[in-house]
Amino acid sequence: MRINDNFEKLPESYLFSTVARRLREYKEAHPDADVIRMDIGDVTVPIAECVLEAMHKAVDDMGRAETFHGYGPEQGYDFLRNAIADYDYKQRGIEISADEIFISDGAKSDLGNLGDIYSEESIVAVADPGYPVYADTAVMSGRAGEQDADGRWSRIVYLEGNAENGFKPSVPDVHADVVILCSPSNPTGAVFTRAELEAWVEYAEREKAIIIYDSAYEAFVTEEGVPRSIYEIPGAERVAIEIRSFSKTAGFTGLRCGYTVVPAALKGYNKDGEEVSLRKLWNRRQTTKFNGASYIIQRGAAALYTPAGREAIKRTIGLYLENAKLIRRSMEAAGFEAFGGENSPYVWLKSPEGEGSWDLFTKLLEEKQISCTPGVGFGEAGEGYIRLTGFNSPENTMRAMSRFVK
Ligand code: PLP
Repeated sequence: MRINDNFEKLPESYLFSTVARRLREYKEAHPDADVIRMDIGDVTVPIAECVLEAMHKAVDDMGRAETFHGYGPEQGYDFLRNAIADYDYKQRGIEISADEIFISDGAKSDLGNLGDIYSEESIVAVADPGYPVYADTAVMSGRAGEQDADGRWSRIVYLEGNAENGFKPSVPDVHADVVILCSPSNPTGAVFTRAELEAWVEYAEREKAIIIYDSAYEAFVTEEGVPRSIYEIPGAERVAIEIRSFSKTAGFTGLRCGYTVVPAALKGYNKDGEEVSLRKLWNRRQTTKFNGASYIIQRGAAALYTPAGREAIKRTIGLYLENAKLIRRSMEAAGFEAFGGENSPYVWLKSPEGEGSWDLFTKLLEEKQISCTPGVGFGEAGEGYIRLTGFNSPENTMRAMSRFVK
């Protein structure tokens, strides 16, 4: 059997496992060190009571013949799809119907799986810095080309974020078929404005491209006027797929549930240039390769759409946002240039003395016993930056920040 050679092209280790290894080594060498994890990309607040109750009940359903659930619909249960269509879209004035919503076992799977429905020849555009999954899945599927000495792939279009554009890349002057955008951004915390998204929708229309809009952190958008969905932009339903997740919204990182919106109006083109419905292709892909998310978990997710669920989300997101705000304020006071930390759990910080990302990682670990994520792990344009997150407890966040007070 010949392997998929693209896997051998992938960089040796994944960013987060390298950070974990470096931390392990440091702790082995300094067993008494009180290291505070400010690199956490996982949530820490446990699952809300109303979600637990819904899941307990769903577990009981599974034990009785009358309420037992075997294979569910591959697209997800109507009780959850309807709740999403109503609360996340209709009540916000957006026309997305339940049959355009596909329940998933999380955003990461679908980010990779969507590659099944577009051509192997597709030119993929990703943000740099950006969530590493976008480029790595392009490599695995053979769409990335070859890697140069700087770590950049020949067939990927890099959408560079920098201090000047506030880490919100503008449309490129080259063609791409698939543009992956993330807002609020991991790792920079940047959020696109309406005008910026309008420019992306125009670009996609002009280039006959599609946008994959990763809004896994949508729940962190609290500022009036900042778009929470790309479908707030007229015409976006013709060019964009939206990916959402309950992971960061409601602590589902271990439960696994999210959803992907593929609007009925969204079209791709076949080899003869004829329009083809992407919803139809995605439905075909899901019914062949996916047997649906767990009934119990979907019942838990549906509980998030009750008043108690909404309240719990608001409380938890509020706590993470307060942490992020404190981080941003404290780090600015300590002389760092900061981005994000508003409408996002992530704070993106520039090295004050021009150190490289990994040098700053080492310095913070050794001098402050604080762990961070090196920005260069999110792409070349992240060199010289680090990412801190608001996902630790308020107590630990305060303790960590007090170490920067001179
Ligand atoms: N998209 C972004 C930007 C993320 O940061 C993450 C997780 O960290 C994901 C997607 C994956 O989310 P999920 O847990 O739903 O797979």
